[in-house]
Amino acid sequence: MQNLKKVFGDHEVLTDINLTVNAGEIVSIIGRSGSGKSTLLRNINLLEQPTSGDILFHGNSVLAPDFDITHYRAKAGMVFQSFNLFNNLTVLENVVTPQVTVLKRDPAEAKQHALELLNTVNMDPFINAKPDQLSGGQKQRVAIARAEAMDPEVLLFDEPTSALDPEMVDDVLAAMSNLAHTGLTMIIVTHEMAFARDISDRVVFMNDGVIAEEGTPEQIFNAPHEEVTQAFLKRYL
Ligand code: ATP
Ligand code: MG
Repeated sequence: MQNLKKVFGDHEVLTDINLTVNAGEIVSIIGRSGSGKSTLLRNINLLEQPTSGDILFHGNSVLAPDFDITHYRAKAGMVFQSFNLFNNLTVLENVVTPQVTVLKRDPAEAKQHALELLNTVNMDPFINAKPDQLSGGQKQRVAIARAEAMDPEVLLFDEPTSALDPEMVDDVLAAMSNLAHTGLTMIIVTHEMAFARDISDRVVFMNDGVIAEEGTPEQIFNAPHEEVTQAFLKRYL
């Protein structure tokens, strides 16, 4: 992200965001409500159009007129707080369908791939269930398998556990830890500070639309430089 800016009306929600995420890196984004974390992810994924600045993927601007956004969205998938599963499709269909429609993958191959991924998140017993029949934690594990099925290079997570009952959170965090160990690049917006500390290579603290501070988990959590970071983290200690 280069000098990324997002304005809604007269409200500048993102100001001059400069952030490089390297292949295989796990970056957590923390910060208080309204600081612009979701907006940043939504701009990266082009669910929102940046007002100015640029986003480069393998050195190419995703804002260039001839850039293939559909392919990019498969390569830079998103996992939402609210799951966003297709409620009229079964668990298996949720994971198969995007592979067939977006990647034009052969249906039998897509099904095989889906079954393997649902197995890794322990959702194989539920392949014929509809999302309505699942708990929040189960839905989120399906959403993770669906995102993985697109063979992404980077996954964006927007508070994937904050809509879950506490007893569901660990299963989803475990699925994310497993993914992190596959070498996937991950950008994770979270309020789970212990998780962010354990999983991240780098932690970014956002405040009021800017990156106020970034560093290793040890530096950010043990010795934050900025007063705003210290004040934010105090509430979690
Ligand atoms: P939370 O931790 O509560 O999820 P956040 O850091 O994700 O907060 P954002 O959702 O990115 O914050 O919102 C940042 C600011 O941008 C807020 O003031 C919000 O009201 C504003 N905002 C976000 N989306 C829009 C929109 N579509 N139109 C107008 N304002 C918006
Ligand atoms: Mg948010």
